[in-house]
Parts: sequence; C-alpha cells; structure tokens
Amino acid sequence: MNIRLFAPYLGEDEINEIRDAFNRSWVGLGEKVNKFEIDFSDFIGCRRSIAVNSATAGLHLAVSVFSFKEGKKVLVPDITFASTAFAPIYNRLNPVFVDVNNDDITMSIEDLENKYDKDCVAIIPVHYGGQPAKMELIIEFAKQKNLKVIEDCAHTVGTEYKGVKLGLWGDIGVFSFEEKKAMTTGDGGMICSNDEELIKVLIPRRWLGIDKDTWKSSFDYINPNSYNTRHWYYDINDLGFKYNMNDLAAAVGIVQLKRLSWMNSVRSKRIKEYLQVFSRLKHIKPLLPFNPDENSYWLFGVRCEKRDELILHLKTNGIATGVHYYPLNMLKYFREWYSPCPIAEKAWESFVTLPLHVHLTSEEIEYISEKLVSFEKEYF
Ligand SMILES: *Cc1c(COP(=O)(O)O)cnc(C)c1O
Repeated sequence: MNIRLFAPYLGEDEINEIRDAFNRSWVGLGEKVNKFEIDFSDFIGCRRSIAVNSATAGLHLAVSVFSFKEGKKVLVPDITFASTAFAPIYNRLNPVFVDVNNDDITMSIEDLENKYDKDCVAIIPVHYGGQPAKMELIIEFAKQKNLKVIEDCAHTVGTEYKGVKLGLWGDIGVFSFEEKKAMTTGDGGMICSNDEELIKVLIPRRWLGIDKDTWKSSFDYINPNSYNTRHWYYDINDLGFKYNMNDLAAAVGIVQLKRLSWMNSVRSKRIKEYLQVFSRLKHIKPLLPFNPDENSYWLFGVRCEKRDELILHLKTNGIATGVHYYPLNMLKYFREWYSPCPIAEKAWESFVTLPLHVHLTSEEIEYISEKLVSFEKEYF
C-alpha cells in the first residue's frame, strides 16, 4: 500500500487546453487568463476575479489595496498556513494571532474581541479545511469596529455559507490553486471582489502597475491598417508586482473549474465513507464537525491523544499523514508577534490529517479505516 495524502486530478482536457495555448504561441498573461477570470467570476458570482500566481501573492495584494498605515494590526487565526500572517507583514503591518474554536478550528469570536484594540484595521478569517468561519459574526464585529475583511479561501472553492458564497462575505476573497488544493493550476490564485474601487487598483498592481492590458494591444503592433506609432505605450501610476497568472496555468484552471463541482462531490462522498468508522472507534475522533452535504472540505483528519503513535502506525501501513497546522504563534519567525492562543496551542497536538483526494478509492478508505480500528485495539 502507498496512499498519498493529497493528489491533483488532471487529465486529457487540461492537456488539450494547454496545447491550444501552445498552438497560439501565447503562454504569458493573455486570453486564457482573461477567460479563466470571467469563468471564475460567473462561478462565484462576483463582479471581478483577478488571477495571480499564488494565493500568497493574492493575499499580499489584497491587504495592500487598503493602504493601511504602517504598524497597524491585522487579526489572523493562529491555525492556518503562514501566508495568512505573511500578508500583513509584507505590508509592514503586524499580525495578531487569534485563537480558534476547539470544535471547528476557525477563528474564535470571543478571542477576536479579546485581541482587538484600536490599532486593528482588518481581519483575515480562514475557512479551515473547508469548514466555514463564522462569517455572520465576523462581519458584524468588523462593521462595529470599522475593520476590513479579507477571506482566505485557500481551503475551499464554491461552497455557500448561510446563502452567501465563501469569498463574497468580506471586501475581498482570495483562493489558492496550489497543487494540493481543491482545484489546481500548478501554482496560482484568484482575488475576487465586488468593490469597483478595489478592483481598479488590484488589476494593474498584479502586472507591475501597467495601466493597460498589454496582451490586448499586441495585435496592433503588426496591424498594417493602423497608423498609431504609440501602440507600445503605457503608463505606470503605482508600485506594481509581477504577480500575474500566465496562460499555461490559466489553461489548466479553465478545465479544473469545470471539474470542480464533481471533484467537490467526490471528496464529500469519501468523507461520508470515512465518517462511518467512528461508530467503531472510541479514542480517535473526527478533526472537524464534518458536514459534507453542506460544505466542501479540502482536508480530512482525526484527533487522537496518541497522535505520534498513530502517525507511525499509519506510516508503517503505507498511509501518508500530515499535521495541519503547527500554530503560527509557536513558529520561530513569528515570535515577536506572540500572543497566547491556549486552545490552538493544545488542540494541534492531537491533529492527524488523513488522505483525501479525488483519486482515493472507497477500498482505500476501507483500508485506512481498518488501520484506525487496529490502532485502537493495539494502543488503548
Ligand atoms: C495554501 C494556503 C495559502 C497559500 O496558497 P498559495 O497559492 O500556495 O500561495 C494561503 N492560505 C492558506 C490557509 C493556505 O492553506
């Protein structure tokens, strides 16, 4: 047995779309990126989507667009990937680590109120593993305190929470298409917003601040009927970044987006199969209050007091595992921003991420489930 933790689901259709980009000899920022953005906006139901080369870049830009004064604070959950907390730091702002709820590992509203002070300017909630953060409460709190909200949607694409798509609750939503995520472009990300003013700044900022779509005007370079000698001209009004997605990644993304609903439903089905094992277990519990009929999870996991023994047991049986995540406030780099998050600092010690991806079969889930049962027999 050799069961991977995550695996992208890619096929012939992605290859054909890439071939089309090859045939047109255009692989940079171009038509495919444009099409992927339009498709994604239609899918999410937002005014504009802006494709970038990672969610990390997307979060950097999303925070930058508000021009917060240097040294201000941004509230982030303690259990997330580092990018969530890097985004404020890239912008010379300070991350404030907010504890999580023990049951769903999303941002604790109680600790959010605790950690808030007058220097706070924004919140970046994370839908941990695909479990929606309590957005109705976060938005209410943000409105009260006049905070901006950027949703880190790196763990779920396409789920609704209380009738609103995740990513559209806040001012800006940022999605990740890194290879392990719910859909992939190799590396890539998407920034979504309904706010025209923010969109106007974000579009050139991901393309070095250039104030026009260079790929659209390139046809004019060789147009024999055009007497415009300034076809090459553009202006720069802003410090921009080289954060754009390219047409090769977008080609993959266009097809992955079409597969997404199906991929989400396969993962939901696999989670339902996993959930059956818990009636046979006493010490190993589900990591989250999984509700695969409502939410699209990217991660499946369990909690177990004898975490490291369980990891070793699964490893010797050819089952890959992970731990998502070591609390950020315990990482060396974030030491200067340390503040206590007692729930996170304790909870992570029992986390084990189990394999979840579209290639995973029912038989493999059965096999993994049996190994969980045999672990309890042996260790408890
Ligand atoms: C993966 C991830 C990111 C970063 O995504 P990239 O596209 O790899 O930059 C950001 N936030 C969270 C919560 C993630 O899991």
